[in-house]
Amino acid sequence: MSAFLPPLLFRLRNCDLRLLLSARWILLAGLITLLLGCSEHETSRATSPTADLIIDNARIYTFAWGEPDGEGTPAALAPVSDSNWAPDATAVAITDGVILAIGSSDDIAPLKGESTEIIDAMGATLLPGFTDSHTHIEELGATLDDVDLKGVADEAEAIARVVAHVDANPVPEGQWIVARGWDDGLWADRYPTHDTLTAAFPNNPVLMDGTNGFGAWGNRLAMEAAGIVAGAPDPTGGEILRDANGEPTGAVRNRGVALFRSAVPPLSDERLQRRLVNGLQLMADAGYTGVHHAGVDSRLMAAYEALAERGELSLRVSAMISGRDKPLMQEWLTRGPQRLGDDNKLFVHSVKGYYDGSLGARGAKLLEEYSDREGHIGVSGEEYGFFTKEISAMLQAGFQINIHAIGDGGNREVLHFLRDNFALNPAMQKNRHRIEHAQVVHPDDFALYDELDVIASVQPPFVAEDKVWTEDRIGHARSAGAYAWRSFRRNNTALAFGSDLMGYDWNLFYGLHSAITRQSTDSEPPGGWFPEEKLTTEESIRGYTSGAAYAAFLEDETGTLEVGKWADMTLVDIDPFETVAREPAALLNGQVLMTLVGGKRVFDATR
Ligand SMILES: [Zn+2]
Repeated sequence: MSAFLPPLLFRLRNCDLRLLLSARWILLAGLITLLLGCSEHETSRATSPTADLIIDNARIYTFAWGEPDGEGTPAALAPVSDSNWAPDATAVAITDGVILAIGSSDDIAPLKGESTEIIDAMGATLLPGFTDSHTHIEELGATLDDVDLKGVADEAEAIARVVAHVDANPVPEGQWIVARGWDDGLWADRYPTHDTLTAAFPNNPVLMDGTNGFGAWGNRLAMEAAGIVAGAPDPTGGEILRDANGEPTGAVRNRGVALFRSAVPPLSDERLQRRLVNGLQLMADAGYTGVHHAGVDSRLMAAYEALAERGELSLRVSAMISGRDKPLMQEWLTRGPQRLGDDNKLFVHSVKGYYDGSLGARGAKLLEEYSDREGHIGVSGEEYGFFTKEISAMLQAGFQINIHAIGDGGNREVLHFLRDNFALNPAMQKNRHRIEHAQVVHPDDFALYDELDVIASVQPPFVAEDKVWTEDRIGHARSAGAYAWRSFRRNNTALAFGSDLMGYDWNLFYGLHSAITRQSTDSEPPGGWFPEEKLTTEESIRGYTSGAAYAAFLEDETGTLEVGKWADMTLVDIDPFETVAREPAALLNGQVLMTLVGGKRVFDATR
């Protein structure tokens, strides 16, 4: 075991550890300086600090050994030989929410005091805490109060689910019923009409919201409340679907969804906060220690700030200011990027821009027409609700700009937008700007990502789920640049992984499986979809750990397991390295056993 111990630990054991204790809150850099100054001959017995918590008998991968190269070859210090990975520690000691020491069980034993709690991991695998870099937490939390339509096969099943929910939880006449989660990508060519829904619910407005936010339908009362009536104009960037007589059918596309959503009365502050708490708890249950919330408007920001102030955020949240909320951008232009609350849980340093639509609903902006719709290239930019002037101002004020871009046209236009801004102020290029999804990229443009230091914030589940229609939309040749994660790495582009929940499953084993195999859960296609773009197990885990930390400016504090960093960790029942080497599909059977944020258990399957 000790062959893999980080040299830091040896030094730590020979130090005057009182110094270490009083200084444990300082940044890692300071800690290293302090430790390096310790004498090899001093004894620590009398002054040993005690750990609050020790996790022992774990297969720990610290990821503290350095990044792999662009082809996925591990760094020289990585604990791997002949493709066989081995854990580089078995025990970790935690005090005051940070890692006090990490190494072998023998090394950690002296840090055990009378009040130290010991967790016997019984051979389970401990990884740096996972972060989902692209989430919509209020939608996740809403699943606990709204009707969940995830996985419904058709209109009849969707309506039956709403009927069952309302039978079980009666709703007074006139009150809105919101259901969400039907697949607006898969149903793109067969959106339901209002008739059956109106017949089932004549006395309540009902909204049936799609899982990706690009399609919705409602009953007669919902349509009336949303102004979706005969003669109503299509909203900018959206479409009201109409029948042969020009009457609205009840369904809307793209920004038409906002007509319905804005007709639903707002939640109380208390209920909105509860939704965020519930959503974060569902993420903790799934093994995540942090999330990046992609698009937080004024109300959500107020809810997050209230929760941070009361110390009620369980996970670390990087809240991206919505680039569609001009008053909120104006407010933060004055405040500047900052972290809130006194327990390092809420970070506001970025703005989410919305540049084009989705590929499934053919809203993504392509350079050439869609393969399955002649003459159609999608919508982008101001036409899609991108506020060029306001977002440029946020960029110039030092914010990180995270722009949703899906099509190869959308990606190129966003890269040029960033390049134009950097020309005005070259220092702003270093603010780790991100393109969210970075889904279809023209071969010429990978170099531009590198040149402009843009991070690709990508979602591994997209490959598993989208590959069945991607080639219909853009053909085979363009698909070579779709979800092209190896191309990004080879071109020196940092990756951050996420799920874009609710649209996609956020199970971390599912995400890893998709990135590593480029297959769906049925192991299709054999060998993987465009297998040359597969990533290694190490790279895939890093997408959710060190990569996600870098994308949120938190790499000095989380993302790897090292002395002085936050004790954010995920305990799982399988060793991903060993599992992938043996049978990649077995990854999908993995279970999260425990999630710790700052040493605190936010999920524990063993209790
Ligand atoms: Zn999203």
